[in-house]
Formats: sequence, C-alpha cells, structure tokens
Amino acid sequence: MAETFIKIPDNYSGYHLSHFCVPKHYEEDLEDIMIPWGLIQDRTERLARDVFQDVKNEPLTALCVLKGGYRFFTDLLDKLTALNRSQASVSVPLYVDFIRLKSYENTDSTGDIRVVGGDNMVSLSGRNVLVVEDIIDTGKTMEKLLAILKNHQPKSVRVASLLVKRKSDSTGYRPDYCGFEIPDKFVVGYALDYNEYFRDLNHICVINDSGKKKYLT
Ligand code: 5GP
Repeated sequence: MAETFIKIPDNYSGYHLSHFCVPKHYEEDLEDIMIPWGLIQDRTERLARDVFQDVKNEPLTALCVLKGGYRFFTDLLDKLTALNRSQASVSVPLYVDFIRLKSYENTDSTGDIRVVGGDNMVSLSGRNVLVVEDIIDTGKTMEKLLAILKNHQPKSVRVASLLVKRKSDSTGYRPDYCGFEIPDKFVVGYALDYNEYFRDLNHICVINDSGKKKYLT
C-alpha cells in the first residue's frame, strides 16, 4: 500500500537552480529547488480529490492559515471548485475563512503561538472545517490551533498541510492530508517566507547560509 504522502528522503539533493526559473533577486540565496511548482500543482490536484471524496456532499469551510498557507489554499480551492464543476453526482458547497498565527523568528520556532488576526471564529460553529496549512514542523502550532478551534464547536475538523517536516522534536502530530514529507531543512517559496522574503518564489527551495544571513532581522 502506498504512503498517503510523498516522502522526500534525507539524501535527496533537489534540482539545480539553473534547471528552472528563479527570480534573479534570490539566485544567490538558495541551495537548491526541493519541490518545483509544477509538482506542487499535481500533488495538490490529488489532495483536492481525496478531500472531495471524504466530505461527500456536505458543505466545507476551508480555513486558510496565513500568511504561509495562502498559495496552497488558493490552489487547493481552485482544484476543489474544478471538481465541483466537473462532477455531476457530487457537490461540495465551499466557504472560506482566514486566520493568522505567528510562531517563528528567523528559522526558530518560538513555541509561543499567537493568533494575530483573521476572521471571527464564531462562524465555524457547526461547520465541517478543513484547516489549510503550509507546513507542520514540530506540530506545536497545529495542536494549539486545533485546541482553539475546538472551543468554537465545529462539526468536524480535518487538516491539510502541504508539507510535514521529519523532526526529532516533533509532537507526533500528523495531518489528515499531507502533500510531501520533507527532510529537516528550512524551506522557502510558494508563500513560505524567511522574515517575509521569498513569498514571491514559485518553487519550494532550501535557503542557503548566505540567504539566512542576508535577511536576518
Ligand atoms: P511548528 O509549530 O509545527 O513547529 O511550526 C509551524 C509553523 O512554523 C509553520 O506554520 C510555518 O509558519 C513555520 N515553519 C516551520 N518550518 C518552516 C520552514 O521550513 N520554512 C518556513 N518558511 N516556515 C516554517
């Protein structure tokens, strides 16, 4: 039986930057391309199909975890709405909501997770919620968010995370839908940032030491 995610092994060296298009302003700051944009799209299409099959005609509220989750969120929603258009027998009314959390400084998880903005979560009461997140690292952020959501009494909560990192200090949390399981490296691009840089990069890339130094706050 195949894993429910694509596993990128620790010894994977990624794609050379010269094989794909990367903004000139980031060329010096990246080690390699871990996941090209096209592969993210293909994987997201399959995750959308898995979500669609599981919700079975019930309305779904997709909750975007800002800012890092916004590109995965829009692509996943695009693919879900495409399924709604093309499938005659299944139909999933979709609602969207947004939440903003903060837990990272430079490349370190602070463990202090704060809700710093977003919609009023009262509207999630009685709903089937799909939390859409960019990456699960230690798992602390998601566990905290799920505890907060529980207080608002949704009908059900599922989590889709594009990436899950293999970490020795993981809480053991695993999302319901996962795109890729990746090595313990700091990644940027596809809305994942390093101190607000790199959100404007399409591919998921590994930042290099000079990039970390250059954009240190
Ligand atoms: P956790 O609480 O699971 O340790 O951290 C989750 C959050 O940390 C993510 O939502 C993301 O904002 C940030 N994060 C963790 N690892 C990375 C990474 O490799 N790159 C980026 N850009 N953010 C990360």
